Amino acid sequence: MSILFISKADNPTEWQQALASLDPEIGFQVWPDSGKPEDIEVALVWKHPPGALLGLPNLKLIQSLGAGVDHIFMDPRLPKNVPIARLVDAELTRQMVEYVTLAVLSRHRRLDLIRGAQLLRDWQVIPPVPISCSRVGILGFGEIGRATGNTLVNLGFKVASWTRTPHTVGAVASYHGSEGFTSLLQKSDILICLLPLIAKTRGLLNAEAFATLPTDAYVINVARGAHLIEQDLLAAIDNGHLSGAWLDVFDAEPLPSNHPFWAHPKIVVTPHLAGLTVASSAASQVIHNLRLVHIGKTPQNLVDPTVGY
Ligand code: NDP
Repeated sequence: MSILFISKADNPTEWQQALASLDPEIGFQVWPDSGKPEDIEVALVWKHPPGALLGLPNLKLIQSLGAGVDHIFMDPRLPKNVPIARLVDAELTRQMVEYVTLAVLSRHRRLDLIRGAQLLRDWQVIPPVPISCSRVGILGFGEIGRATGNTLVNLGFKVASWTRTPHTVGAVASYHGSEGFTSLLQKSDILICLLPLIAKTRGLLNAEAFATLPTDAYVINVARGAHLIEQDLLAAIDNGHLSGAWLDVFDAEPLPSNHPFWAHPKIVVTPHLAGLTVASSAASQVIHNLRLVHIGKTPQNLVDPTVGY
């Protein structure tokens, strides 16, 4: 039973230690050294080079090192019929909830205006809008969207969600499909993108979507850079329709140093750090999946390749 680790962003030593502390018998190889390729049953990957998963005759699972799997489907030479699983990890979800709540509260209490006044040494009292008047729309109401929505509802925000399939969720108004998309946008003062990146969600945050949002709305993208048309966002902010944006993910990462987002007074930029996988938290899930596929059982958190998430 061996794992092949392929990631430039994650620390292989941390992962090896976290996995060995749970099961010292498990083999651990770091790509490009796959040891005996026939021993590899699970590939643990983040943005692997195309074709790197070929030549592993007993590969039973491609396990993402993150919640998203778009990086896996980008490989045109992905081995056929090998299941793909993603991480659903409490620590990762907690970090995401924490980050999005930070962005929502900063916008809600107008930290941008308060900081601007501070820089001018201007004692300017900006009264808060009642929280129940701040309508939050969440695109994607899966593991992270739901946890975020629950936290925001508990804080007092009016929350609505948009999903692919119909949902019924207690305190959260639920929309789906293209009509539902328009309805949700029309009622979102703060729009949060927590969608997986698939063909149908690529470029969804565009000029038409921004024009549908209420005047002064705010956009938070923590999903993937390709959900957003960057020029359309700049235009919607610069023409005064949107009040600003908070972005963790970008078309090109790292964001080029000459990119207009960096110095834009109404855009907060963070370098894709909203939720980072912690090996000590997520390792048990990887081992559990390895043991399941080793005995021919179905692993947890499988992705449906027909929908792409
Ligand atoms: P889930 O798979 O649990 O949830 C995805 C949600 O998106 C579901 O509610 C799904 O609808 C909805 N959805 C999918 N396709 C469509 C569509 N075409 N139209 C409308 N809704 C759709 O994902 P997670 O919550 O775990 O993660 C969401 C994303 O967050 C990840 O894919 C990743 O890109 C991003 N992420 C970013 C991080 C960062 O650091 N910035 C860290 C972790 C994740 P339905 O319920 O009907 O299936």
